Amino acid sequence: HRLVGSVADGEDTAVEAALRPKELGEFIGQEKVRAQLDLVLKAARARGATADHVLLSGAPGLGKTTLSMIIAAEMEAPIRITSGPAIQHAGDLAAILSSLQEGEVLFLDEIHRMSRPAEEMLYMAMEDFRVDVIVGKGPGATAIPLELPPFTLVGATTRAGLLPPPLRDRFGFTGHMEFYGPAELERVVHRSARLLDVEIDTEGAAEIAGRSRGTPRIANRLLRRVRDYAQVKADGAVDREIASAALAVYEVDARGLDRLDRSVLEALLKLFGGGPVGLSTLSVAVGEERETVEEVAEPFLVREGLLARTPRGRVATPAAWAHLGLTPPRQVPG
Ligand code: ATP
Repeated sequence: HRLVGSVADGEDTAVEAALRPKELGEFIGQEKVRAQLDLVLKAARARGATADHVLLSGAPGLGKTTLSMIIAAEMEAPIRITSGPAIQHAGDLAAILSSLQEGEVLFLDEIHRMSRPAEEMLYMAMEDFRVDVIVGKGPGATAIPLELPPFTLVGATTRAGLLPPPLRDRFGFTGHMEFYGPAELERVVHRSARLLDVEIDTEGAAEIAGRSRGTPRIANRLLRRVRDYAQVKADGAVDREIASAALAVYEVDARGLDRLDRSVLEALLKLFGGGPVGLSTLSVAVGEERETVEEVAEPFLVREGLLARTPRGRVATPAAWAHLGLTPPRQVPG
């Protein structure tokens, strides 16, 4: 479990429902996607038609599930939520598709992780609102075509590039979700604080926003931990001092790095003079698996401009030295 991890955990799931914006106007940031989606939905409503299929790409925790629920709400349609990994067989997908109501929104999270046969069934369902249901086994098996009511598929994926082009091409609209800026995250924190009945001032919200790694899910999670601290150690109100003291307890630093991120950076700087050093060597020095360093710690360090992956190995940037308050021993490549 990682406080600054962007994938939802059990506690998130329970609280997130209460914190989800319910309409487009309430959804903070993502101006471009919001404006584009607003047009798609308004036009569909004006035509009295079902909205085109929508593909949302972006990192976990940026609001793809939330947006899909908003799409359903704006279209006054019911929504069904499932995910690629939950659909093992084409039959699983056929069962879902054939039980959809007219106009229903089907949210398919991690759509790039669907099985190949299910994916092929989805092509036809998206394009012609029809599936072939296979009845029987072996040489006696027959395909029975089944008409589907028109529906709107909302697919979510971490990267649109992971989808096979034939699937990608069947979406009428692709929205790319960006990481949130500090001002937007502050608004997320203020909004959630209001809903959770937490008193927080501008500086307290800014402190949490600055450590949230561009991700509303993390902002909401940090806010809950800060709330705990404020209740136990103070009078429940959150200001800058309380927020930073609380997050120090959880080892989330001013830029949102946690213990793992910092130990990777520290090893890189202190043991290898800022690199270049190979991933395996670095991982052994940190005492973590290669995969953990590469997939869990590095992406954020790279995004923050603290670490660079070069053909010769991992290299710290001048910003990394500055962030840890260390002086580079020699000229570092920048
Ligand atoms: P995953 O891909 O991991 O399922 P996601 O991108 O679908 O993540 P959501 O579950 O929609 O993310 O959002 C996570 C949390 O962040 C929710 O509690 C939601 O309320 C909040 N959130 C996301 N985007 C916004 C936003 N634009 N404004 C306010 N709150 C937001």
